[in-house]
Amino acid sequence: MAHVDPRAAPAADFAERSALALENAFLRRAVRFTVDRLRNGKQASAEAHGDFEALRERGRAIRAHTIAHLDRYLDQFVDNLEAAGGVAHFAADAAEAAELCASIAQGCGAKLAVKSKSMVSEEIELNQRLEKAGVAAVETDLGEWIVQLAGEAPAHIILPCIHKSRGEIRALFERHGNTTLDEATATLAGYARRTLRARFLEADLGFSGCNFAVADTGAIAMFTNEGNGRLVTTLPRVHVVLMGMERIVPSLAELAVMAELLPRSATGQKLTTYLNLIAGPRRTGELDGPRELHVVIVDNGRSAQLSDPRFREILHCIRCGACLNVCPVYRQVGGHAYGSVYPGPIGAVLGPLFHPERELSNELSQASSLCGACTDACPVKIPIHEMLVSLRERDAARRPRAERLALEFAANVLSSPESYERAGRALRFLQRATIGDGSRMTWLGRRVPFAGAWLSTRRLPAPPARSFRELWPALEREAALGNPPG
Ligand code: SF4
Repeated sequence: MAHVDPRAAPAADFAERSALALENAFLRRAVRFTVDRLRNGKQASAEAHGDFEALRERGRAIRAHTIAHLDRYLDQFVDNLEAAGGVAHFAADAAEAAELCASIAQGCGAKLAVKSKSMVSEEIELNQRLEKAGVAAVETDLGEWIVQLAGEAPAHIILPCIHKSRGEIRALFERHGNTTLDEATATLAGYARRTLRARFLEADLGFSGCNFAVADTGAIAMFTNEGNGRLVTTLPRVHVVLMGMERIVPSLAELAVMAELLPRSATGQKLTTYLNLIAGPRRTGELDGPRELHVVIVDNGRSAQLSDPRFREILHCIRCGACLNVCPVYRQVGGHAYGSVYPGPIGAVLGPLFHPERELSNELSQASSLCGACTDACPVKIPIHEMLVSLRERDAARRPRAERLALEFAANVLSSPESYERAGRALRFLQRATIGDGSRMTWLGRRVPFAGAWLSTRRLPAPPARSFRELWPALEREAALGNPPG
């Protein structure tokens, strides 16, 4: 079954991509099964914590304080990183960040780079840029490697191959290794392990992400569940960290709060399996670690987010994926339908902010029921659904003229009780004449502007003979006579 990958189909719009996803029964089952598991895990972990609300509030306060003083903490981090022997680079946009990474790779004569999971590397399309520079980049997070072999983008922030079946993974591995495998977990994991171990030993360069950078020590914190992060950051001669410029915490005390909040929100774990703190390159006398450590600090639209009060809080995001797991849209269409590196509610906000030149905001801000489940789930209390409304407002002028006129008309009708009542009568008459109770969709009903697609998959209840407003005076008369309401 075809998947919709933004890399493969950049021109398709959200409606086309989601329609394709909806036809894929396995994808829908797999996404629902996995996000339910993650959501239940988070809920159990929050209950076991005892006072998860207080932890959320501490997390929110730490993020708000750090972002309010981002310039100070970034300067402090860079000073401490450089004092420990690391090198900091600033990149204004994705292209500059990818260029910096390519020049570091060429500067150290690298031919092969291994990567651990990094959403920023997806954001800057690092692999494509390295390939142009003659450097092969191999993902070593198992899920990331699977989507790399499939030529796709990650479909979830923390579980990139959420949409892949065991059979599809086996087929990918068989094609990659020109071999025959069965579908047992041990066989598939064993194949990945053997293949990737060899790459770690061959690679000249390791790229990693960064969950948080600690300002007062200059250290990079990485929370991982697979051992690949440690191999990527210790075996190659050169280690490059990709870091969004907002990923700072003031000190280890605040990191401790995040180390508890992030895994509980992402997977329901108390802590991730590995918590790595990388403070500079290998020192004299040390047996492992890279000879060089570079940290590429990426802006790519974040300064604009910082300066806009409507969207500033999106910089509080700790990339846990909890908002995806509760989103009624994401659970139906999966990640690739969003056409943005970051899927789900967080992607519906970040995609348009990272790519104002694309039409994403127009379509992605509409790809939400505005139910607010994302905001409730967010461990740092980002008001995501309010940002989606702000994006809709920002892009209102770009909506089709007929839709704007229809909404203006609706606003006028809804602001007057008399016109509301008259419109209700007219609409009930129209619904009976055109759509009926939904079981007899008429030619006209299927062509109701803006509602045709909606009505093609839903049945409206039959309109009542009288509205609640029409019934109310009769009910009041009955009550005055002492009769119980019937
Ligand atoms: S917006 Fe909140 S819930 Fe969504 S990924 Fe970011 S921190 Fe997690």
